[in-house]
Amino acid sequence: MRYYPTMGLEIHAELLTDSKIFCTCSASFGGEPNTRCCPVCCGLPGTLPVLNRRAVEYIIKAGYVMNCDISRFTKWDRKNYFYPDLPKAYQISQMPRPVCLDGYVDITADGAEKRIRINRIHLEEDAGKLVHDEEQRISLADYNRCGIPLIEIVTEPDFHSAEEVTAFFEKIKLLLQYAGICDCRMEQGSIRCDVNISIAPEGSDVLGTRTELKNLNSMRAAERAIKAEIERQTELLDKGEKVIQQTRRFNDATGETVAMRSKEDAHDYRYFPDPDIPPIVFTEQELEDIRASLPEMPQQRMERYINEYGISGNDAAVIVGNKRISDFYDDAVSVCPSPKNVASYLVGEFMRRVNLGEIDPDNIPFSGRDFAKLTEYLYSDKLSQNNAKLVLTEMISSGRAPEAIADEMDLWIKEDTELLARTIDEIIANNPKAAEQYRSGDQKVFGFFMGKANKALKGAASPKAIQEYIRKKLSE
Ligand SMILES: [Zn+2]
Repeated sequence: MRYYPTMGLEIHAELLTDSKIFCTCSASFGGEPNTRCCPVCCGLPGTLPVLNRRAVEYIIKAGYVMNCDISRFTKWDRKNYFYPDLPKAYQISQMPRPVCLDGYVDITADGAEKRIRINRIHLEEDAGKLVHDEEQRISLADYNRCGIPLIEIVTEPDFHSAEEVTAFFEKIKLLLQYAGICDCRMEQGSIRCDVNISIAPEGSDVLGTRTELKNLNSMRAAERAIKAEIERQTELLDKGEKVIQQTRRFNDATGETVAMRSKEDAHDYRYFPDPDIPPIVFTEQELEDIRASLPEMPQQRMERYINEYGISGNDAAVIVGNKRISDFYDDAVSVCPSPKNVASYLVGEFMRRVNLGEIDPDNIPFSGRDFAKLTEYLYSDKLSQNNAKLVLTEMISSGRAPEAIADEMDLWIKEDTELLARTIDEIIANNPKAAEQYRSGDQKVFGFFMGKANKALKGAASPKAIQEYIRKKLSE
């Protein structure tokens, strides 16, 4: 039998505030264990939380970029459960009155446009982290992450393939990054994704029993996990067995999903209104000010690149597809008269180096301005293609300015006309047959002479000068 998978996502994203959600401890990633916590975020008795205004602004921004309705009245609830990484034994979250409701995000997946509905986005605090020491067989608790503001984005069950899930997740990452809400570093856990999956016979309008996949630590893992889980459920149903509602995790090494806990021990969180945090009523003016403070979003940036700089839709999409590269490009074009040339060298040679792992977009060792200068040297025939690549390699390893590198390595095109003439005369004299072929109308051998001359001149003359001289000599 053929089955149709249905999925919904829960995405947790840590907000880029300076301090935590209810205290003044630093909210940045890392730090020596338990050095970024205080009585408030550790939930000691007698402490009182104070809500971080910035965190509320950020979730409202998230709501706007995902086309949500923003609640004019919102309140906080206690979600009670005990776990060693949650010293308070409850998490302050939002149940019936979240900040954002009923949004949507459009994606392109499997070649088709699709609208994914957002059920809600709420604000809550993150829990700490447990570090398990397998060797000594002990577990340690690090509370630095306790109280980092977190938004949870809950979608409707609108996904029917792993490709749709990854396309959506990538789009959410872009929106959050451009809005300045979250840095979306999955490897540091600042954005995390849980997937609910069920399958049902094709044509059926009743959803099957769902399982939840948790702790997916990369998008590649998520894609594999989804496919493995669909396969597992299909095999069960084919054998006449039942899918049990449970939470599962993905084992990256075996490529299989493994049960973590079943519905029997599902929590009853006993939500009740948090008495320490008062509800909020937003005025229209407050919401309007927050909406107006949103920076340029990916779609607007695409349009600026295409309409103002005249670069192609494809190139614009590649650049905008990574916020750090797009910021780098903006830095480059701020000094460069030709944004088009910078775009084509960026999408070509620069991205090739990114794909080879030579450049880390999060940590580009030179400025966009230096990259713009390199592009200018290349397009104005001051550096040959090959030598520009050499300069770029050196910029990657040392971060130095392109002109300093070209000076030191003696890479500038010198337009040495005498050397040019001598070298090409010699090449033509040594290859009389090819020269004869060209003169009798076989234009293809022109490339042969260009290649030989480029190699012999090693950037001492510009391609244009070489071309002109060869053409002139061959038609004599
Ligand atoms: Zn604290």
